Amino acid sequence: MSDLLTVGEYKAIAHSLNLGGNAFIDGVARPAASGKTFATTNPATGDELAQVAACGAADVDFTVKKAREAFEDGRWRNLHPSERKRVLLAFAKLIDRNRHDLAVLESLDSGKPVAECQSIDVHETANTIRWHAETIDKIYDNTAPVGHGAMALVVREPIGVVGCVLPWNFPLLMMAWKIGPALAAGCSVIVKPAEETSLTAIRLAELAHEAGVPAGILNVVTGSGAEVGQPIGLHPDIDMVSFTGSTETGKRFLRYSADSNMKRVVLECGGKNPAVVFADAEDLDQVAEQVVLGAFWNMGENCSATSRLIVHASIKDDLLARIEAYMREWRMGDPLDPTNRVGALVSREHYEKVKGFVDRIGKEKLGLVAGGNTEGGAFIEPTLVDGVTRDSTLFREEIFGPVLSVTSFTDASEAIALANDSSYGLAASVYTGNLKRALRAAREIRAGTVTVNCFGEGDVTTPFGGFKESGFGGRDKSIFAHDQYTELKTIWIDLSDRAVDESVR
Ligand code: NAP
Ligand code: MG
Repeated sequence: MSDLLTVGEYKAIAHSLNLGGNAFIDGVARPAASGKTFATTNPATGDELAQVAACGAADVDFTVKKAREAFEDGRWRNLHPSERKRVLLAFAKLIDRNRHDLAVLESLDSGKPVAECQSIDVHETANTIRWHAETIDKIYDNTAPVGHGAMALVVREPIGVVGCVLPWNFPLLMMAWKIGPALAAGCSVIVKPAEETSLTAIRLAELAHEAGVPAGILNVVTGSGAEVGQPIGLHPDIDMVSFTGSTETGKRFLRYSADSNMKRVVLECGGKNPAVVFADAEDLDQVAEQVVLGAFWNMGENCSATSRLIVHASIKDDLLARIEAYMREWRMGDPLDPTNRVGALVSREHYEKVKGFVDRIGKEKLGLVAGGNTEGGAFIEPTLVDGVTRDSTLFREEIFGPVLSVTSFTDASEAIALANDSSYGLAASVYTGNLKRALRAAREIRAGTVTVNCFGEGDVTTPFGGFKESGFGGRDKSIFAHDQYTELKTIWIDLSDRAVDESVR
């Protein structure tokens, strides 16, 4: 829904919002057992928004107990599929109805531009819940070809109690990508939002409850990675963890699993995503527009952000001039003004990290083409930097900010080698007017999503996740996401003569 409001209307909502910071456990808003809280701030202003429950291992234990009870007594998984679908569709409708409030809350807590919060984050959150709800009464199990003497059913069952550990860059949407298929499968879910952005997760759980998701089925336990994330990773009664965040923390969850109960772990981690532009790209204006979108959307705080432009030397100057022109259209400023496309970075700490990369441009004597201004507090201007070679930090490390590096090539195999020269493999884009070249490049680039002549992440119908150190164990989105949250069970039924009672022969 693109019924955007004015900046005045969004500010009025911001003043009227009830910024509840309690955790949501077993159907009830609760403080941490310890009574401790932490402040969540608006990164655009530095103002404190609310005090949020600083939960810990005792809260995780209590939540797991309640989530387990809810799973075992079948209050959700044993509902008729059409009934679970009805509840989740009602949940999606409530998200749509609360879209303005949710967009403002997301923008305030994260610094993201409100127009995008509403038209992308909130809109796609409702869409994701709706899409997975619709699958509930449309997925069939299988029988295996085992011959006349037996029947073998291959059925999927909900995996049990699921922990979802989330990042701060798309707080609502990453939650939806995980709870959509987990709730559709019939699991109990415990969400740990990132400390910086807990408020919309709490609100989403309240809306789910209001729509009829029973107590104990969708819980939000707020707090830090060390105090809440680690106890989730190590808990002996959690059956799986679905994580999105950095590769470093993702690897910790593999260790937690090995050190506890071998819980299933699915990881969506970082990226260093290339856009390869061949000399025969058809419309350089469109390429420029898409590259700018890929690099600077969400301030580059996007695991699939285009961060390495790999362009044929013969068209480089022409393309960079057009990219610069599009960059000028991306106004930076107050995230609550719907005409701004670049907001604040999520926190001071993250701002300092990204600024460190911008500062390297001078230190490494690279060619600053546009942007580079870091003087606006938590705001960093979209930045374009040329002459970046393979050994540069800007080529190798994930920046997670609005910095696009440019590297040129002269033949196609060099372009593919540059694109693949990374420990990550999340996303890539290829721009060419030649279909064969496009498809060959799409096959040769090792990434979970390759887009041709556009930037994108597919849509709710396509799986999302990474090759190499970008991902592990499964995919978010699409019907394939359901595999994460279910176990396969074989039920073998003997139909051989010896098993048949005389009376039925
Ligand atoms: P992060 O530091 O890895 O944090 C992710 C989550 O893990 C947060 O909820 C965090 O809690 C928690 N966590 C941190 N340390 C932990 C520990 N020792 N044990 C258990 N949990 C722990 O990443 P981030 O800073 O939120 O997000 C940025 C990163 O996410 C980037 O590297 C980006 O590439 C990646 N990302 C990937 C995808 C994808 O789909 N592949 C999507 C979005 C982001 P606290 O922060 O509250 O302490
Ligand atoms: Mg915040």
